[in-house]
Amino acid sequence: MASVTYQYEAPVSQTLFERASAVTPGGVNSPVRAFRAVGGTPRFMVSGTGPYLTDADGREYVDLVCSWGPMILGHSRPEVIAAVQEAVSRGTSFGTPGEGEVALAEEMVARVDPLDQVRLVSSGTEATMSAIRLARGFTGRTKVIKFAGCYHGHVDSLLAAAGSGVATFALPDTPGVTGAQAGDTIVLPYNDLDAVREAFLAHPGEVACVITEASPGNMGVVPPLPGFNQGLKDVCAEHGALYISDEVMTGFRTSRAGWYGIDGVRPDLMTFGKVMGGGFPAAAFGGRADVMAHLAPAGPVYQAGTLSGNPVATAAGLAQLRLLDDAAYDTVDAVSERIRALVTDALSKEGVAHTLQNASNMFSVFFTDRPVRNYEDAKAQESFRFNAFFHSMLAQGVYLPPSSFESWFVSTAHDERAVQRIADALPAAARAAAEATA
Ligand SMILES: *Cc1c(COP(=O)(O)O)cnc(C)c1O
Repeated sequence: MASVTYQYEAPVSQTLFERASAVTPGGVNSPVRAFRAVGGTPRFMVSGTGPYLTDADGREYVDLVCSWGPMILGHSRPEVIAAVQEAVSRGTSFGTPGEGEVALAEEMVARVDPLDQVRLVSSGTEATMSAIRLARGFTGRTKVIKFAGCYHGHVDSLLAAAGSGVATFALPDTPGVTGAQAGDTIVLPYNDLDAVREAFLAHPGEVACVITEASPGNMGVVPPLPGFNQGLKDVCAEHGALYISDEVMTGFRTSRAGWYGIDGVRPDLMTFGKVMGGGFPAAAFGGRADVMAHLAPAGPVYQAGTLSGNPVATAAGLAQLRLLDDAAYDTVDAVSERIRALVTDALSKEGVAHTLQNASNMFSVFFTDRPVRNYEDAKAQESFRFNAFFHSMLAQGVYLPPSSFESWFVSTAHDERAVQRIADALPAAARAAAEATA
C-alpha cells in the first residue's frame, strides 16, 4: 500500500471545515486540532457524553483526547454541569473577588503541598508566562532554561524547540518571535542533567529559572528518568535559580496532587490548567509564599486578567476537583493500563515496532523499538505508521490525538463498553500501521 486512504465519511464536517477555513486560518482555533500531520478533515464535534463524542455527521467516537486532558471525569458529568448551571444562574462575570475563586484556590493549596498560594488565570499559557516573569522579577536575573520537546504554551520566549503543535508541524522557530525574546532562553536536551549543570556554569548568576514539564506529555509521553527532577531542583537551589514545574497537563491528572504527588520533588513555582478548569478556561500558577509575595498588588511584579477567577469556570473546576478522590484516580489508572495492554498486544501481533510509554495514566505510542528519553528520540519514530493507525481507528469510531507527538487521555467514564470498542478497532489499525509505507 503506497499511501493511506482517508475515509471521508464526514460530509457535514467537510462543509463546516470549508466554512471555517474561509474565516479562520487553517480552519481551526488551535493548530493541534487540525489534521495536518495525519491528513484528512478534522471532525467537528457537537456533543459529548461520558467517554463518547458525537460529530456533526452523527457518528459517535470513543474519545481518547478528552479535550487534551481536562475531561478526566468524561463529558457532561452531571455534577459538573449542575455546578455550572447553578453558577451561571447567578451571573457570568463580576470583575470583583468572589467566593468561588477562593474555594478553588483552597482546594488546590490543600492538595498540593508546595503551593502556599496560587494566582488564578485563564490559560496555561498565561500561567507559564506569568511564572517566568515572576521568577525573573524575584531573582533579578534574565535567563530561562527549558527543554527541547517541552511545551509551555505559546509564550514567545518558550516557543523555542517546543513540543505539541510545534513538534507536530516541525516548526524550528516561529516567525514573530524576535531574537531578543528568544535570546534569553537556553534550550537543552530533556533528561540530561549534565547539560543543565554546564549551562549554569556557562552563565553564572544569570539563570532566573528552569522550567520543565513535570512529566512531559507534549512530545508524546516521556517521563523524567529517576532522579532527573530532583537533580534539577538541586542544581537550581545551588545556583539561586527557581525550579518551575509545569503541571498544566499532569496537574490533578496523574494523581490527586499531580506529578508532585508521584515524585515528591518540591518546586519553587508550579503552573496548572486543563483538569483544574473542568472544561472551562481556568488555570493558575503558585508556590512559595515568599516568591508569590512579589506579585502585584502585594508586590511589584505586575500580572492581571479581566476574566481571571471567572465564577463559572471556577465552579466547574471546583466541582470536578471535588469528585476526583483516590477512587477516581484508581479508576483512571486501571482503564489506562488496560488500554495500554490492548494497544501493545495488537501492535505486537502485527510485528509493528513500537514503544508504549506512560506516566501514571497518561500514555502514548512511539513507532520505534527504542526507548524515548528526549525529543531527538521522539522524532526518530516512524510517524507515517501512526498516521495509518490513526485513520483506521477514526474510521472505526475511536478518536485519537491527530499527532504522534501527543499523549492519549482517558477518564473515569471509560467503561467496559468503551474499552471493548477500542479493543475491537485495534487489530485492523495495527494491520494498517504494519502495512504503511513512508
Ligand atoms: C496545554 C499546556 C500548556 C498551555 O496551556 P493552554 O491552556 O493551552 O494555554 C502549557 N504547559 C503544558 C505542559 C501544557 O500541556
